[in-house]
Amino acid sequence: MNPLLSPFDTAPFSQIKNEHFKPAFLQSIEDTRAEIDAITENTDTPTFENTIEALEFAGQQLDRISSVFFNLNSAETNEEIQKIAQEISPLLSEFGNDITLNKALFKRVKAVYDQKENLDLTVEQHTLLDKKYKSFSRNGANLSEDKKKRLREIDAKLAKLKLTFGENVLAETNKYQLHLTNEADVEGLPEGEKEAAAQLAISKGKKDGWMITLDYPSYIPFMKYAKNRELRKKLSLAFGSKGFHNDELDNQENVLEIAKLRFERANLLGYKTHAHFVLEERMAETPEKVHEFLNELLDKAKPAAEREFMQLQEFAKKMDAIDRLEKWDGSYYSEKLKQELFNLDDEKLKPYFKLENVINGVFKVAEKLFDLQFKEVEDVDRYHNEVKTYKVFDANNNFISLFYADFHPRAGKRGGAWMTSFKSQWKRNGENVRPHISNVCNFTPSTKSKPSLLTFNEVTTLFHEFGHGLHGMLANTTYPSLSGTSVFWDFVELPSQVLENWCYEKEALELFAKHYETGETIPMELVEKIKESAMFQEGMQTLRQLSFGLLDMSWHGGDPTQISNVKKHEDEAFKNTNLYPETQETCMSTAFSHIFQGGYSSGYYSYKWAEVLDADAFAYFKEKGIFNKVVATKFKDHVLSQGGTENPMVLYKRFRGAEPKVEALLERAGLLK
Ligand SMILES: [Zn+2]
Repeated sequence: MNPLLSPFDTAPFSQIKNEHFKPAFLQSIEDTRAEIDAITENTDTPTFENTIEALEFAGQQLDRISSVFFNLNSAETNEEIQKIAQEISPLLSEFGNDITLNKALFKRVKAVYDQKENLDLTVEQHTLLDKKYKSFSRNGANLSEDKKKRLREIDAKLAKLKLTFGENVLAETNKYQLHLTNEADVEGLPEGEKEAAAQLAISKGKKDGWMITLDYPSYIPFMKYAKNRELRKKLSLAFGSKGFHNDELDNQENVLEIAKLRFERANLLGYKTHAHFVLEERMAETPEKVHEFLNELLDKAKPAAEREFMQLQEFAKKMDAIDRLEKWDGSYYSEKLKQELFNLDDEKLKPYFKLENVINGVFKVAEKLFDLQFKEVEDVDRYHNEVKTYKVFDANNNFISLFYADFHPRAGKRGGAWMTSFKSQWKRNGENVRPHISNVCNFTPSTKSKPSLLTFNEVTTLFHEFGHGLHGMLANTTYPSLSGTSVFWDFVELPSQVLENWCYEKEALELFAKHYETGETIPMELVEKIKESAMFQEGMQTLRQLSFGLLDMSWHGGDPTQISNVKKHEDEAFKNTNLYPETQETCMSTAFSHIFQGGYSSGYYSYKWAEVLDADAFAYFKEKGIFNKVVATKFKDHVLSQGGTENPMVLYKRFRGAEPKVEALLERAGLLK
């Protein structure tokens, strides 16, 4: 008996063996296919219920199996699971394509969509209908056969170009080596970094010396600490010219072709530009809005950035008689200046952040804000004995969610921290089915003599992921595909980032930031120092992020067909954000993997967008009290529980009473001086 193929509530980890996965996937793909055939073969007139809702609830067992499997592949994997993933992933994406290319199914979906104004639908049902319809139309379902053919050609070409782009960047990164044999050339590097560089040299087949490469763990420390300016320059130029050498690894043609094909694809589907296509499913909605946002922030952050740059310039002049700061000086002198100004040491903070205290702290914050109670339970099946399980209840003792917490690194766990779910939330046949949410992290584990003590960065990470977790736990929608964190991409970081703000507040820290040996509450001057150092060079950082967002929009927000010179185009896009002198040897676009390889095209702005949202939301809490029940309840009712049931701007305005303003971020970042 395959435990994955009989209905289950909590995932039956202890009964699942690896050999259960593949047959379970194959069987449930077939079951889902049958459910979809039942929709398309229905002879009744298409209705919201017999088509859209039926499609929404098709494949639930497949969803459950997928979440169990892919969550395990991230948190507790092994070679066997990875092998199954390699086999299963193409089958799943093929099955997904079968659905979006299913003409009979689209015909029924369109029939419902075309009469949507005459149907008596709730707001959530409207959103669901829209989402289902667009999952077809945005993939070309409405196009004539020859245009469909062109769309497939473009998609195939784009897939290949993106792959080549990424391979070139990787090859450029791997190809470069700076082998140093004179100890004076690594002067300034901390001992640990020197050791790592020496080891790297050995592993690359050198007898001795130090090896520096363009990989971040090697490149970043060198730029930050190496005293030798000429070598910093050499490395910086190598880093900045990836894919820009007019050789077989050059990406200039790839950049131009990707931008042009994306534009053509958008046109084919009836959109003005690629950015219009992408932003249709974003809170920002239009390229105009994104431009307005980036430029407003630029106007307001630029004076602070210029002040900080002057300060850095003077500091470098005083220290080393540097007359003109170059790109390869920024990181080095910033580090020195930061040391002089703050001298903040993680070791001083860690004793106040024992893991168990921080977990209890985040639970208390959730209790004070949303009346939630977390009860640790032992009777839930788990995939590893380090995983903790909690049942979450509201003030009336109603069961709200199951919560898994898996905090420490293991061999089978990938790096980083994330929130995920084993079961989403939905309502059907009068029942509100509650979700199973999980947080997975890689925090410093305890040792024989010391408990697990978190760095401040780990503390904010825990709050961040728990914020995503609350978005999942408090979900209260009808349809699973609109539930919890299933929201537009530029909205999903609001609940997580906003919760980080509590880590800097006295009232919140007093609840849990107590010395693990003495019980003393963290001194506020330490907290003030953390806050101040978090603001260090915020203006320059902001300008840098904005420059990337503007470059992204310059490629995707207009008609790229006339662009022939990548570097010239880029210089134009950067002209308002430059602080350092321009270098002709370097080019950002040819290695900008986020937008030319990954999924961030027309989306880079969302980093800053999310910060504005969380700063603006938290300003409301600050104004009324960080544990104010009225504000918290509004946040729960209009944001956390609503998932993607409505446009996020509508939800946000209902919570805040107005659209988000950039001022709250400028204020928090100390840019309004
Ligand atoms: Zn996040």
